[in-house]
Amino acid sequence: MLQDKIQEVFNEPGCAHNKRKSEKDRKKGCTKTLKPGAAAGGCAFDGAKIALQPITDVVHLVHGPIACEGNSWDNRHAASSGPTLYRTGFTTDMKELDVVYGGEKKLFRAIREVIAKYDPPAVFVYQTCVPALIGDDIESVCKAASVKFNKPVIPINAPDFAGSKNLGNKLAGSALLDYVIGTEEPEKTTPYDLLLIGEYNLSGELWQVKPIFEEIGIRIAACISGDARYHEVASAHRARASMLVCSKAMVNVARGLQERYGIPYFEGSFYGIADMSESLRQSAKLLVERGAPAELLQKAEHVIMREEEKAWEALAPFKRRLEGKKVLLVTGGVKSWSVVSALQEVGMIITGTSVKKSTEEDKTRIKEIMGEDAHMFDELPPREMYAILKEAKADIMLSGGRSQFVALKAKMPWVDINQERHHAYAGYDGMIHLVAEIDKALFNPVWQEVRRKAPWE
Ligand code: SF4
Repeated sequence: MLQDKIQEVFNEPGCAHNKRKSEKDRKKGCTKTLKPGAAAGGCAFDGAKIALQPITDVVHLVHGPIACEGNSWDNRHAASSGPTLYRTGFTTDMKELDVVYGGEKKLFRAIREVIAKYDPPAVFVYQTCVPALIGDDIESVCKAASVKFNKPVIPINAPDFAGSKNLGNKLAGSALLDYVIGTEEPEKTTPYDLLLIGEYNLSGELWQVKPIFEEIGIRIAACISGDARYHEVASAHRARASMLVCSKAMVNVARGLQERYGIPYFEGSFYGIADMSESLRQSAKLLVERGAPAELLQKAEHVIMREEEKAWEALAPFKRRLEGKKVLLVTGGVKSWSVVSALQEVGMIITGTSVKKSTEEDKTRIKEIMGEDAHMFDELPPREMYAILKEAKADIMLSGGRSQFVALKAKMPWVDINQERHHAYAGYDGMIHLVAEIDKALFNPVWQEVRRKAPWE
C-alpha cells in the first residue's frame, strides 16, 4: 500500500518538473537516495510531522522509538492562537520487546489512553522506520480504533525509508485528502471562503496576512495547516478557491481539491511587497470568478494601495542604507525567487542563490528576476560558502541555522531565513521586519570589533 501511495504521489500532474520526466524517471522520484549517516535534513516521517503538526487541537501520536518524536517535536515554531495540544509530544516509545512481539497492540492502547485523557477531535498516528520494518499495520489499527472510540484516527504512513522529507510532506497531504478533508461540514459558508495551503504560521506569519485578507472581505476558511483546527481542515472542501503558498510541499492537496471538489488554486507567496499584493489580487480574482461580488476586486486594490504606500514609507530609511549591498542567499523551504524579489525591492544585489529545493518553475522565475546570468547553485559546500564570504563577494548571508557558523567563521553577518527562524517575515509588515533584521545584522558594530587584529597579531 505504501508503495502504491508513493507512486501516486510521485506522479504529480500539478508539478511541471514531474510532467517533463519520462515514465521511468518519474517512478524514481525526485531526490537522490541519501547515504546513511549523511546529515540530510530530516526524514520522510519528519516531513509528514512538520506538515501536519501545526493542526493545533489534535493529538499527534508518533508510533516508534522515542527518538523519532524527540527528533521532530516542535522544531518549527508554528504558532497557535488557541489550543496547545499539538505541542505535547506523544509517542508509543517502542522498545526491544515491541520489536519482537509487534507494536500494534501498544499503539491501540496508546490511542485509547490519549482519547480518554484529552478527548481531542482526532488523533493523527505517524508511522516511523522501526514499526514499518517489522510490519505494524497502522492503517488497520487506526481503522479499528476509529470504530471502537467513535473518533477520527488518521494514519500518516510516511516512514523514513519511503523517501525524502519533501515526499513526507506530500504523503501527509495525501492522508489529509484520503481521511480528513470532506468528512465534516462547515457551520457556515460564504462566497469569500479561501483556503491557504502550505502556510504553517511559522512564528506567527499567518497573523501578518490574515487581517489584510479579512479587511478586503476574504475569509480564510481554513489554513492547511498553520494554526488550523481539525474541524476547519475536515470541512475545507466547501471553500471557493485556494492559494498554494509553498508549491513543493503540498501541491498534491491543492490539485486534489481541484479534482475532487472543483476548487481552483493559484500559486503565490507572502514574501516581498509585490508578491504579497499579487497574492491578494489573485485571491480576490479567483473568488470573483467563482461567484463573489465583483466589488471585492476594488476593495483589494484599495487595501493594496494603502498597505504598499505604508510599507514603502517604512522601508525608505532602510533602502538608503541597504542599496547595493550584496547578499548570498541559501534558502531551504522558503522559495528562493520570492525572497530574491523581496530583497531586490530594497535595492540589494543577490550574489548567488541556492536552488536545491526549487522547482523548474522557481528556477525560471529566478532567471526572470535576476537575468540569465543569475548565479544559481544546487549545492554550496561550506568551503565555497566560506570563500565567498571571506573574499567579501557578499556582505551578508541569509540561510538556515546550519550554515550560520560558516558566516561567523568568516566574520560576516548572517540572518536566519529558514523555517526554524524566530521572526515572522510574511506580508507587508513581515517585509519591513526582514529588512530591519538584515539592517541590524549588517550594521552591528560587533563586526568591526571581530575583524580587528588582535593586539598580539
Ligand atoms: S522515522 Fe526513522 S529516520 Fe526518521 S527519526 Fe524515526 S528512526 Fe530516524
